[in-house]
Amino acid sequence: MGGVRLVLLGAPGVGKGTLAKMLKEEYSVPHLSTGDMLREAVKQRTQLGKETSRYMNEGKLVPDDVVVGVLRESIKDCEKGFILDGFPRTNRQADALQDILGEMGISLDAVINFEAPLEVLVQRLSGRRQCRECGAIYHISNMPSKESGICDVCGGELYQRGDDGREVVGVRLRTYEEETAELIDYYRGKGLLESVNAAKHREETFEEVITILRCKK
Ligand code: AMP
Repeated sequence: MGGVRLVLLGAPGVGKGTLAKMLKEEYSVPHLSTGDMLREAVKQRTQLGKETSRYMNEGKLVPDDVVVGVLRESIKDCEKGFILDGFPRTNRQADALQDILGEMGISLDAVINFEAPLEVLVQRLSGRRQCRECGAIYHISNMPSKESGICDVCGGELYQRGDDGREVVGVRLRTYEEETAELIDYYRGKGLLESVNAAKHREETFEEVITILRCKK
């Protein structure tokens, strides 16, 4: 199948980033993660990073105008396809995405809503490790690197995201319920929503997504 234009929706820890990386390989389209972009900005100490780190450290959403600007810039050459991970997160962002895609003369193929129980999310978040260099994602027990603390892909150092600590995780999960979960209805209303069970092994979830997309085309 050619390029796909997807939004991945779901609570923190549900596996959007991991599935996005698998889908990116399958469809050869860019993986656009606003969280990764913002973390990079913080790491590089850019103006954007300075403006946004406070929100990220506290597990709160970065203001819509700022994150829409980031998305607009990153999606502009992706008319052939993309996998959006972590955007949109509010109704205003979803409306902005519609406008941006409209200006580009394209539309979404589907919005994949990943579902998993709270205990699965918490277990995944608490054990998640990420590569400082290339952003590859691991889990200390579900998906460990070959050598502890070292990325299999690039040899970079694995670290625990500051916002994966217990206190901030609670805020992030609440923020998701209060500000993002309503996007499920938003996209259901547009006939784009496809819900998948993300509590299973990632390969099974991946197969479920692939099957859905095959049926759509
Ligand atoms: P993520 O990597 O998707 O979990 O995002 C990490 C953090 O970046 C979030 O907790 C927010 O502070 C910020 N962030 C990422 N994407 C967005 C977005 N679409 N809207 C607002 N804040 C965002």
